[in-house]
Amino acid sequence: MAAPGKVAAFRLPPLPTIGEIIKLFRLKAQKQLSQNFLLDLRLTDKIVRQAGELKNAHVCEVGPGPGGITRSILSAGVEQLLLIEKDPRFIPGLQILSEAAPGKVRIVHGDILTYKMEKAFPKHLKKNWDDEPPDIHIIGNLPFSVSTPLIIKWLENISKKDGPFIYGRTQMTLTFQKEVGERLIANPGGRQRSRLSIMAQHLCTVKNCFVIPGEAFVPKPEVDVAVVHFTPLVQPKIQQPFELVEKVVRSVFQFRRKYCFRGLETLFPQDGRLKRTEQLMMTANVDPTLRPFQLSMSQFRNLCDTYRKMCDEDPSLFAYSYREELKQNKKMRILLKNQPEQTEK
Ligand code: SAM
Repeated sequence: MAAPGKVAAFRLPPLPTIGEIIKLFRLKAQKQLSQNFLLDLRLTDKIVRQAGELKNAHVCEVGPGPGGITRSILSAGVEQLLLIEKDPRFIPGLQILSEAAPGKVRIVHGDILTYKMEKAFPKHLKKNWDDEPPDIHIIGNLPFSVSTPLIIKWLENISKKDGPFIYGRTQMTLTFQKEVGERLIANPGGRQRSRLSIMAQHLCTVKNCFVIPGEAFVPKPEVDVAVVHFTPLVQPKIQQPFELVEKVVRSVFQFRRKYCFRGLETLFPQDGRLKRTEQLMMTANVDPTLRPFQLSMSQFRNLCDTYRKMCDEDPSLFAYSYREELKQNKKMRILLKNQPEQTEK
């Protein structure tokens, strides 16, 4: 169905409604798999419009389920649509859609967390990283337990220009729990500013498009849902390897309510910790009494660049793990406690 005021670029033949497909194939949502379906095609059209112009585009839809969003993507006039669905119960319903749009749909019964996207689209669609994004889009309404680890994996792929991003700056339109959507776009000083804000914003332009109230889904989830659009940046805001940025950002946010100094200390071994943390903060020109959520992107960049220099000077530093040190110290304490006391003769 086309959006009001917008003519469908491709008209699907008359089909059973999504509700009828659900009944026909007994696609009862499985609560333990967090399945919540969208039946209102005006809403699925609205989600799909957030991706931008899709006429003749190549699209991968993740978790199509009974196919509401799938119909809107097809109506937008795409050239090719790749569907990746984990639950085999949905495949026959999706095949009906595939027959209604001959030659356009490819259905993969698989898990998006392990599916290799490198060969998913034709080679001729590849664009250079600094060119306009390729005519390739990823769209999906997945369970939250999948969408959050997936976006972290895809952010890493963006930083390495691999996975779906070997084709260039592939755009994504995905749904998240509303609060996760707020974290993804949070600015310095915002209550929701977190690790996810930095990791996403240093690699992408992130837009929180709109919120879908829980009532719009069948069955209704406990939370509202945010539709978020990502366009990878030509130049990441922090030009350091993903693992290094992750380590610094994770350290900063591990003590959310304390001064940022407290988290950053954990980057350094006990021996010399204070001195090296002071050196990091001074060189990066960051006030150690700022709270993690107050730090700006350029302060994170300075911290990562300085930590990188320190790692280059001491190659053992990057492998250092605070947690591992805590574990070892604990083991040692237990060992000493259990050792029989030496009595003097
Ligand atoms: N997109 C449909 C909609 O909006 O009505 C269904 C949404 S439902 C919240 C999530 C869908 O993702 C289900 O069809 C589920 O089987 C599928 N799914 C869950 N985990 C998946 C994974 N790892 N890979 C592919 N599909 C997955």
